[in-house]
Amino acid sequence: MDEFDFVIVGAGSAGGVLANRLTEDPKIKVLLLEAGPKDTNPFIHIPAGFFKTLYDKKVNWCFSTEKEDAWGNRAIHWPRGKVLGGSSSINGHLIVRGQPDDYNGWAQLGARGWAFDDIADYFKKFENAQVGDPSVRGKGGPINVREPVEKHPLTERFIEACVEAGIKRNSDYNGVAQEGVGYFQHAILNGRRQSTAQTYLKQARNRPNLRIETEALTRRIVVEGGRVTGVEYEQNGQKKQAKAGREVLLSSGSIGSPQLLELSGIGDGDRLKALGIDVVHNLPGVGENLQDHYLARMSFRVKGAVTYNEKSRGIRLGIEVVKYALTRKGMLTAAPGNVSASVKVMPGVDNPDVQFTFAPASYVDGLIGVLNDFPGMTCGFWQHRPASTGSLHCVSKDPSVQPSIRPNYLGEQIDRDTVVESAKMVRRIFSQPAIARHVESEVFPGADIQSDDEILGYVRNSGATVYHPIGTCKMGSDPMAVVDPLLRMHGLPGIRVIDASVMPRMVSANTNAATLMIAEKGADMIKAGMR
Ligand SMILES: Cc1cc2nc3c(=O)[nH]c(=O)nc-3n(C[C@H](O)[C@H](O)[C@H](O)COP(=O)(O)OP(=O)(O)OC[C@H]3O[C@@H](n4cnc5c(N)ncnc54)[C@H](O)[C@@H]3O)c2cc1C
Repeated sequence: MDEFDFVIVGAGSAGGVLANRLTEDPKIKVLLLEAGPKDTNPFIHIPAGFFKTLYDKKVNWCFSTEKEDAWGNRAIHWPRGKVLGGSSSINGHLIVRGQPDDYNGWAQLGARGWAFDDIADYFKKFENAQVGDPSVRGKGGPINVREPVEKHPLTERFIEACVEAGIKRNSDYNGVAQEGVGYFQHAILNGRRQSTAQTYLKQARNRPNLRIETEALTRRIVVEGGRVTGVEYEQNGQKKQAKAGREVLLSSGSIGSPQLLELSGIGDGDRLKALGIDVVHNLPGVGENLQDHYLARMSFRVKGAVTYNEKSRGIRLGIEVVKYALTRKGMLTAAPGNVSASVKVMPGVDNPDVQFTFAPASYVDGLIGVLNDFPGMTCGFWQHRPASTGSLHCVSKDPSVQPSIRPNYLGEQIDRDTVVESAKMVRRIFSQPAIARHVESEVFPGADIQSDDEILGYVRNSGATVYHPIGTCKMGSDPMAVVDPLLRMHGLPGIRVIDASVMPRMVSANTNAATLMIAEKGADMIKAGMR
């Protein structure tokens, strides 16, 4: 059996950072196991290829939620990267830190050492920012962060309309204040995706103290004598074991981490027994506290401008492909979101509570993926910090059965009210002169949907995930916490969880930047503990 200091399970956003940072020390021997393949699929690297990998089971787990009335009795598609780089290889490239109070809130909930002042430098550490004030932004980090290469004229009209509606312009929402409207910042360099595979792992992969194994599915965390000692995994149909002399670092993401823990007998004892799984460590918080952003969309038929709907067809698409091949510019460098507005929507809130996004494209049935055959634009929005929490648990001891995903979208009244008020704000923005002259008609939900109940009904029946599940192995010190503030598992030595699942509460942001920050800090804490 092979022996390492650390075995990292999952080469996603967090796993990629950890593998690099730990092996900076040549004395530390690391095995990185990834269930998916190498990131050779070309659509991973072209920013607009996002739409191609969204449903591709070769690089994506393609999970789905349970069907529940609260979201129109639909199973909502939940993509997750299953490839080197994990979800950072298939995500929307957006880099958003969130608000200082998000992290101050974590600290108040028991995650000591995670208040904003404690973690701010780790946001700087992962980035090489081409925007913003250098005193608050990072330079020289592995991930290049920039504004969109191509700024479609309608995006500028949308920003102007927001300003006309009373939202201030903000040139750097990752700077001192998030509030306002401006261009999204993307993890893109020279027109190509900056996943952790293409940045952190590329830098580290030739180090003799790092071994990376792809198509290696971890089946079980091995516990011997009351301590985690390694993992069992499967590769090319063969069962293998790897020993972790120091620790197993679980970085399988908000779905994979709780799933693997439960399959290994770590979780709520009664729940595990009911599935016929031997209880190794009773930890009731595993798989609880699931939080996600629920996306609503409104779309408009456009007049007086050419949108990506037309540019994605025929000769225009041909021109874009050639432009991208020759110059790494044009529509194919566009991520799914171009503009971000962080806004206070509900009365009396201290901080922005809703994020709006804009794209000069629209989709059949409002669903992301298939573009309309007429000119269109879309405004998406979600509540920054939903109050609803759900759960995610194994329903079988067979690892090939996906866990039951119940995000409890719109479960709390405040979440329902916020979504309705946000839809009204979208209509206010699109009635401002700067953009109103490009609105031929509202396609979704359409002019006949007016009352609060009708708007809520529309959102229930058409909403989707923003792909931001967090919280299923939360950090803290209460009985439902899975890891402590050093990310060590409560009550079981030899294992830490380091990925998006440890966030105790949702951040006011797309979750990749916070995950990278967690992994940077996690690596530092591990190294500090070893000195
Ligand atoms: C389609 C999509 C779009 C998104 N867009 C954005 C965006 O624009 N901006 C943003 O900030 N966030 C975005 N996100 C969210 C963001 O990418 C995630 O929050 C972040 O990548 C989570 O990192 P992670 O390390 O926790 O998990 P992941 O990056 O998902 O990594 C987990 C890894 O573990 C592997 N794994 C799981 N189980 C096992 C096992 N048993 N054995 C071995 N390997 C295993 C997986 O295959 C995966 O590679 C998006 C996510 C998706 C899916």
